[in-house]
Amino acid sequence: MIYDFIVVGAGIIGMSTACKLQQSFPGRSVLVVEKESQPACHQTGRNSGVIHAGVYYTPGSMKAKFCREGNVATKAFCTEHGIKYSECGKLLVATNNVELERMAGLVSRCKENQISIEVLTASQLKASEPNITGLGAILVPSAGIVSYTEITKKMVDLVVQGGGEVRFNSQVVGVKEQLDNITVQTSGGQFEGRFLVVCAGLMADRVVRMLGVIPEFKIIPFRGEYYLLSEKHNNIVKHLVYPIPDPDLPFLGVHLTRMIDGTVTVGPNAVLAFKREGYGKFDFSLRDAFEMLTYPGLLKVLYKNYMVSMVELKNSLYKKGYLELVRKYCPSLTLEDLHDYPAGIRAQAVTRDGLLVNDFLFVSTRRALAVCNAPSPAATSAIPIGNYIVEKIKKLNL
Ligand SMILES: Cc1cc2nc3c(=O)[nH]c(=O)nc-3n(C[C@H](O)[C@H](O)[C@H](O)COP(=O)(O)OP(=O)(O)OC[C@H]3O[C@@H](n4cnc5c(N)ncnc54)[C@H](O)[C@@H]3O)c2cc1C
Repeated sequence: MIYDFIVVGAGIIGMSTACKLQQSFPGRSVLVVEKESQPACHQTGRNSGVIHAGVYYTPGSMKAKFCREGNVATKAFCTEHGIKYSECGKLLVATNNVELERMAGLVSRCKENQISIEVLTASQLKASEPNITGLGAILVPSAGIVSYTEITKKMVDLVVQGGGEVRFNSQVVGVKEQLDNITVQTSGGQFEGRFLVVCAGLMADRVVRMLGVIPEFKIIPFRGEYYLLSEKHNNIVKHLVYPIPDPDLPFLGVHLTRMIDGTVTVGPNAVLAFKREGYGKFDFSLRDAFEMLTYPGLLKVLYKNYMVSMVELKNSLYKKGYLELVRKYCPSLTLEDLHDYPAGIRAQAVTRDGLLVNDFLFVSTRRALAVCNAPSPAATSAIPIGNYIVEKIKKLNL
């Protein structure tokens, strides 16, 4: 059998793309191949669960557009399929004068990105969140929380109900592109398709290489470590509470996150990981570490961000340092309140020149399209990303 479409990866982007392919090409066959035994085992199942609004992203970028659209589309998907979500809103809190200045910049950015916000004074912040201290804050009412694992599982069900196939325990180990079709070799057998979509997250560059393309980037894994707050703190905040970020490193700064199961986490930090899918603090892969440490792009990133990297590492190893990050805006928390919680690993594309690729990135060949950089807010943006991929495929007139 020759499948019309083969999708690699049953994370949220692969599944959203598979759903959209089925909707847009009725009657055509779709196969998803996933190396794990279930969906959402990696980034999709190990994140903060935030439905972002799109505050930070460069106006006009794919991140800004897809996040804004994805915020609406994710909530609509949940409503349609009975998946629980909460529009709890997000507070970005300034704790010193530098952050107050940065806050003014973020207010302008929200306007450019057409995101409705309210600006709160210190006393309005205190009235809204008695356990949070700050000089002022931005309230983003449309931000919310959900389980992206639940969404992805529902997408698997939809694909299967629509006549598609999702094959687990099938790791792609080779790809051969011919003029009219593409052969995908997996640990669960060989499949023929007319078009391949690669949504392999932390392994994106390796699967792209199988297509015969030398990627102009490498995926560098950054572990995001969390702590779970004691149960007595499940109502410590009503909103998601974030620090105002450094505009050059917007993904840094741990936040208090209400989770959809009613618990509250703090995190994530960003520490270089020496194993792409190794979630323990000291997990190590010789192959992954060797590839990273011999990659000029990463060495340049580390050189440029030496101090920041060292501080992140220190706070990863030294719980008291981590606690101080959150005590900046939530001073009542103590060491006894922080409990172990599973970490996640971000797949960040880095160029040879040492640039962290900022926007979503796609690479195409004649019979394949690969998602190459899809860090946060890609879970929020997964439905628009799937739509974008399918629009690209439609133009190919396969
Ligand atoms: C700590 C952390 C916090 C985050 N917080 C948020 C947030 O709050 N909100 C938000 O919008 N985004 C967040 N993100 C980002 C978001 O989780 C990711 O952008 C999104 O999940 C990416 O989805 P994906 O499908 O591309 O990748 P993944 O979920 O990693 O899926 C890729 C899949 O491909 C499979 N695969 C890989 N190689 C192969 C192969 N050779 N053969 C077969 N299968 C293969 C993998 O097993 C995996 O299942 C966060 C990410 C992290 C790590």
